[in-house]
Amino acid sequence: MRGGGASKIRPATGIAVSATPEAIEEAQAQVLRKDRAQRAAWANKTFEEFERSVFKESFPGGKYIVNGDVAFADRKQLQEFFETRIKQEPPQTRPGQLIVAGVGGDKIWNNTQKKQISYCVSTTFGARHPSVVTAMQGATGAWSQVADVAFVYVASQNATCTASNANVVFDVNPVNVHGQYLARAFFPNEPRAGRNVLIDESAFQLDPAGKLTLVGILRHELGHSLGWRHEHTRPESGTCFEDNDWKPLTSYDRFSVMHYPQCNGGGDWSLTLTNFDKNGAACVYGKAPGFVADPTICLTPPLSGPSACGPQTQAFNDQRVAKGEEKMHGPFTVSPGSRFEVKMVGDGTAPGDPDLYVRFDQPPQRVTGGFACRPYLSGPEESCALDVPAGQTRAFVMMHGYAAGAYDLIVTFTAGQ
Ligand SMILES: [Zn+2]
Repeated sequence: MRGGGASKIRPATGIAVSATPEAIEEAQAQVLRKDRAQRAAWANKTFEEFERSVFKESFPGGKYIVNGDVAFADRKQLQEFFETRIKQEPPQTRPGQLIVAGVGGDKIWNNTQKKQISYCVSTTFGARHPSVVTAMQGATGAWSQVADVAFVYVASQNATCTASNANVVFDVNPVNVHGQYLARAFFPNEPRAGRNVLIDESAFQLDPAGKLTLVGILRHELGHSLGWRHEHTRPESGTCFEDNDWKPLTSYDRFSVMHYPQCNGGGDWSLTLTNFDKNGAACVYGKAPGFVADPTICLTPPLSGPSACGPQTQAFNDQRVAKGEEKMHGPFTVSPGSRFEVKMVGDGTAPGDPDLYVRFDQPPQRVTGGFACRPYLSGPEESCALDVPAGQTRAFVMMHGYAAGAYDLIVTFTAGQ
């Protein structure tokens, strides 16, 4: 979440736009013009120049921050963002598909992960610790009351609540980035070290008479942690365009908790979940017990549940891939609704940088973004854990040598009929 100004929080600015067909068309034209101007400005510049223009958190493990509060853990990912989103025309949205997601396939928790999203709250918050715990419980509860997800607070890990604590899914820690953002979070498919909710000092200096609160900020941030992109990247907002790498889950909602108020948002700074937010979340993860969903809101039906059959494992040891080479494993015959997991580890003392790609139904397409999972990290430690979509029975695994790589692969899946 980013505030309305560099140093102080402002209410929504700009004139709100009604989503009439004319307004949407004009907004799309504006977005296109801004987008082209941005690409022209960067066309002849280098990645190193772009990198210098991007805020990077200065502490160990710090991320690059773009679009207000969206974080890239790996320099390789920032470089791809620059090459494919800033310099080039981004790919167009595929209409009518599932979810507001991000670079690298749909970023959502699978059916096991979504029920155990555990976290700790660092004791380094000091005297503020109880208020952060309370705000986290309020914000996680807002989502788990509507969607079939479970955030689990593990207080026993608070004293060792760092980015390397493997006993929790994510950590909540204080930072001081001087208002660069109020807080920032992560997307579901990031590795452990990148899965943190960081709360800036500025989020504790809010106007007590204002609508913006820590729990509101965290409702927005935890929306990212469930896979939601910023609603204001949609053309109907007429401003604050980020990229086209998302799928609509509901029709445009300018009141959404994922919509910055200062981007022609309709909501105020209280950042509460709208009926569209609630139903969109329930559509992706299933509805929470007791939540009455409105089936007319979601653009697609919910994902299918897991299979009852037992999984099997196949190992591929001592594998090699040359720089630039694409190497296939599988396809694996899988059961719709079951889990498909691939874990890659480095082989030997110089494992290099192999990249893992997974796609259902057909082989992954690296350049066009045709894949369901691609961690895209520097080094060989990568994994994908996906639910096989309804109607799909084959899983393809591809390795690409970003640099030459040496790796072992473990594939766990439930065979189809
Ligand atoms: Zn955000």
